Amino acid sequence: MKIKTAQDYLKSLRKLDHKVYYKGKRIKDVTRHPATAPHVRAAAVTYALANDPEYKDLATAVSHLTGKTISRFTHVHRSVEDLIKKVKLLRVLGQKTGSCFQRCVGLDGINAAYSVTYEIDRKCGTDYFERFKRWLAYIQEENLMVVGAMTDPKGDRSKGPAEQVDPDQYLRIVERRDNGLVIRGAKLHMTGGVNSHEILIMPTTAMDEKSKDYAVVCAIPADTPGVTMIFGRQANDDRKDNRERIDSGNPLFGGVGGEAVIAFEDVFVPRERVFMDGETEFTNALVYRFAAHHRANYGGCKTGLIDVLTGAVTYLTQIQGTAKASHVRDKVTEMIHLGETLYSSSIACAAEGWPTPSGAYMVDTMLANVGKHNATRFHFEVARLAADLAGGFLATLPSEYDLNSEETGHLVKKYFSGVAGIATEERIKIGRLIESMTGGTALVESMHGAGSPQAQRVMIFREGNLDKKIKLAKALAGIAPERSRKVRKNRMH
Ligand code: SF4
Ligand code: FE
Repeated sequence: MKIKTAQDYLKSLRKLDHKVYYKGKRIKDVTRHPATAPHVRAAAVTYALANDPEYKDLATAVSHLTGKTISRFTHVHRSVEDLIKKVKLLRVLGQKTGSCFQRCVGLDGINAAYSVTYEIDRKCGTDYFERFKRWLAYIQEENLMVVGAMTDPKGDRSKGPAEQVDPDQYLRIVERRDNGLVIRGAKLHMTGGVNSHEILIMPTTAMDEKSKDYAVVCAIPADTPGVTMIFGRQANDDRKDNRERIDSGNPLFGGVGGEAVIAFEDVFVPRERVFMDGETEFTNALVYRFAAHHRANYGGCKTGLIDVLTGAVTYLTQIQGTAKASHVRDKVTEMIHLGETLYSSSIACAAEGWPTPSGAYMVDTMLANVGKHNATRFHFEVARLAADLAGGFLATLPSEYDLNSEETGHLVKKYFSGVAGIATEERIKIGRLIESMTGGTALVESMHGAGSPQAQRVMIFREGNLDKKIKLAKALAGIAPERSRKVRKNRMH
């Protein structure tokens, strides 16, 4: 692996000449700019963990392409064990960063594209799979971070890609040349977009025959001419100013992912880096597999965050003198219960994994969707319980400037203290951490990351196998099976 350590990763980003804007100005160095640096540091932990003897087994894998040791974030899952290790790795990373470490999106894109390009070639006689493997071997060897770019702007949601007034609302091929493609469009909500080396572009939804120009999978370096990134605002992002070590709550890692719009203004993609070009019938499988892999993650990373939040709240109740109250213990128990329930779904969907024809393993899609859907509720409930236990001071705390001021510092210290012997500053720090993990952007990610709740409900209904369930009921009720009403068969694999 060329990029071995967290420091190597930061250095590699400094060499990247990608165009990133924030609040109307270009960011020259994403590793040092206060808006992006915490997210870069969170992603860097994925590199650091691979060198930590305690976690090496989780954070690395053996490449089936080269036989070399690689980061698990560039690995194609070859077994149920691989799928389970991924979930465990994400939980550890969530615990260590208290944040989104962003690198899973590319991993999930790699796994979806690997199996689907294999299937396209078998049916269509193309050579996408060989190209994809060559690109992947390069990613593994260099140990690059890849952003999986799926979500298109979508314009008028009542219309498909080919019916939009502005045809660029879905990323599309605007020109086909002998040696490659020219693409135009944008991808929104790109977690880790500004600190990835490569962009793996995939369609956002299943495409029909009319939308051939939108059925494109390809990869480009992040600093390819024509690519512009605009980094998003986040709740309290002014607190990421380097001087605010307490008020940001999680000064090292920021507490949320760091998302960007990535615009592609007539970007040339060499043929060697094109992995789908118009094969619309495979877009459904690609989106479906990517979504399932990404949804499987949430019982890993979010459980890690819930572990941190539960620890923060428990400690806060100890230093506020409320820890022994029975309702406090009960609420902390509920937080643990919700976290472990999320984790169970992710482990379960991995344990029920199955091999695709390419040899890459898929998770059980029903359980992955159920798990992610639970995250859209449980993380909010955990946050509600944390805010309940922490108390109203989360919303009324003076700033760290007042804490450190000669005129007001003594008052803040005196009137925001808890049990004797504990510095007020500790209570404030833990309070700010809880505030940053329970508000604004952090929870929106749990709701909409890896697809909004309705997207999971669609999959849950489709995979619910209702005809089988009706048969079960009719058998017990003594109704002849041939009188069953026809119910759409929904199993998709
Ligand atoms: Fe990874 Fe997504 Fe979780 Fe962020 S939210 S840590 S990208 S799975
Ligand atoms: Fe996400």
